[in-house]
Amino acid sequence: MSRFQRPIMLAILVLTGIALSEIAFSVWSGRALTNFPRHLVMPVRGASISNMRDTFDETRGTNRKHEATDILAPRGTPVVAADDGVIKKLFLSKPGGLTIYQFDPTEQYAYYYAHLDRYAEGIHEGTKVHRGDVIAYVGSTGNASPNEPHLHFGIFVLGPEKRWWEGTPINPYPILMSSENVKL
Ligand SMILES: [Zn+2]
Repeated sequence: MSRFQRPIMLAILVLTGIALSEIAFSVWSGRALTNFPRHLVMPVRGASISNMRDTFDETRGTNRKHEATDILAPRGTPVVAADDGVIKKLFLSKPGGLTIYQFDPTEQYAYYYAHLDRYAEGIHEGTKVHRGDVIAYVGSTGNASPNEPHLHFGIFVLGPEKRWWEGTPINPYPILMSSENVKL
């Protein structure tokens, strides 16, 4: 290595080191690897990351993936809109029980809230909501255990047709983790 190459090699090593530690730090702090452009709040009032489990990849039933995050909370705890947007669909399903599908204002994403005990007053299909508005209450409707009320929270990337029942699930856990300090 020549006298001139050495400082260049050193600079490359230092820069690589900085880049690696940046990545390590953001993974540690849960901020990285989510390019999610929306700014969310915890959808359960008073909940923190410690009430949550990253169960996105867990299997449920025979060959179904969970594809959501569960937030444990006492029955009746307010469920708040994670983002601005519109209540697209109030839906009763066997697995999800009482559910809400909300679209974000850009209609790129759908937020799915399930196992609700009941809807909040004034919540209808078409209702516009703001981040932090109470939209429902935690429960155990559908296939949730009555002994473990929780909010099942999902995020879907909507397709071009913007159908509330069709989308590609993405993991809410790292996204909510990065929203941890945005509690209302
Ligand atoms: Zn769940």
